[in-house]
Order: sequence, then structure tokens, then C-alpha cells
Amino acid sequence: MLQVTPVRAFSDNYIWLIHSPRNSRRVVAVDPGDAAPVEQALANSKLELGAILLTHHHADHVGGVAVLLHKHAVPVFGPASEAVPGNPVRLREGDAVALNELGLQFEVLDVPGHTAGHIAYVGHGAVFCGDTLFSAGCGRLFEGTAEQMAGSLAKLASLPDDTSVYCAHEYTVSNLLFGLAVEPNNDETRTYLEECRSRRAQDKATVPSSMRRERNVNPFLRCHKETVKQAAEARAGRGLNRTEIFAVIRQWKDGFRA
Ligand SMILES: [Zn+2]
Repeated sequence: MLQVTPVRAFSDNYIWLIHSPRNSRRVVAVDPGDAAPVEQALANSKLELGAILLTHHHADHVGGVAVLLHKHAVPVFGPASEAVPGNPVRLREGDAVALNELGLQFEVLDVPGHTAGHIAYVGHGAVFCGDTLFSAGCGRLFEGTAEQMAGSLAKLASLPDDTSVYCAHEYTVSNLLFGLAVEPNNDETRTYLEECRSRRAQDKATVPSSMRRERNVNPFLRCHKETVKQAAEARAGRGLNRTEIFAVIRQWKDGFRA
């Protein structure tokens, strides 16, 4: 099992530090949007940065790269079709990141929708999915279409049940409230909401989640379910195909206030 430490940044971002299975003091930072909290975490736990992985070009994911590289001469990996700092090794689906010295290896998936070139890293029973899949939610469609995002989420949802889902934001409670608006009779959503509220009340992270959990509570992974289809069709006032169901609930979420 991978050892992964969250570093909080901004109001609700998580920068993940993946510990090397060979030497737990060496870590890989995923989406360091801010250098200062990463430096602090490295100093506090006497960790050494070994590499940087980037999922997409948004500033809250890449803003700390240049500053980190001043102090740490480490390789940077990022999406092939997006402009990100750090002169990265450019990756697309089918590529792999082999950090042999650290004992870490990840496969790359293209997951467009939130941004056009967004990628995810899969390996060691975990997925680092940036702003594509959140616990009980998904990223907004800034650059891609509903069809692209639905395809990207389907790709992620095909990962094994016990895959740990490391998303980049703490949005779970508000996402679950939306999930209940879509599926008021989903008992797991209700139970999980209470669990996550309690974790947040103790200032604990609700993530990582698991793919099994996401398949059960995430309305964006459940567009094939009759409950979600009915809720979306009631909202739209007409019959909908699978992609339209996704588009309607994504739009519904955009305007949703719990
Ligand atoms: Zn983003």
C-alpha cells in the first residue's frame, strides 16, 4: 500500500506527497500549486523531494513548481498538450512514469473535460486524478465537453474497486449534499455524508476515497442508474440519453447551493 501524505494549500486544495516505497523520506509531489506548504511539510518531516507530477495547467495545481525547482533539482512530469511550468516530461495516455530509483511507477490516462489535456496517474492501487474526479463529484467543464468528461469518468470508474482515489480538493460534504438532491434515497450517500461531516468537524480530510465508494455515491459515475436518469429527466422535462443525463446533472450542480 502506498504511503501518501496530504499537504493543504489555499482554501481547499490537497497537494499529495507520495512516499517512495524504497525510502519513505523521499517523496513525489502531485500538483504543487503553492511551494510554501510543500517546503514546510518537507522540513517538518525531514523529507526530500524526488519528482513532481502535474495533472493539468491550472495555477492552483502548478503555481509552486518554479519556486520548488529553485531549491530541488527534480524531474517534472505533466500533460503533453498543456502549457505547464518546469519543462516537464510530456505525457499522454499509454505513457508511463518510471521513477525506478524511488520504486514508483505510474501509468497515464487522458481524462479531458475539466481542461482539454488533463491527465491522471494510476499505480500502486491509487489514482491521482486532479480535478477530474472528486469524492462524490467531478470537475467543472472549463475546456471540454460533457461527452469528453463522461468518457473520462467512465475510464476512471473502470479501475478496480479498491483503488484509492486521490483528488485535489476537499469538496466531499457539499458534493454529497448535491448527491442527495439527485438520489434522496441513496442510503450510502446519507451515511457517508454523516461520516464526512464528522471528519470535517475534527478538521480531518475526507479523501482519499475508494473507487467502490465513488461508484456507490457519486452521481456523475451513476448516470446509468435509473434513479439518476429519472432525476435528470425530471429536471430537463424530457427523455435523455446517457451523455445528456451527465450534462444535465453537471449543469444542475453548477447552480446548486446546499
Ligand atoms: Zn483545475
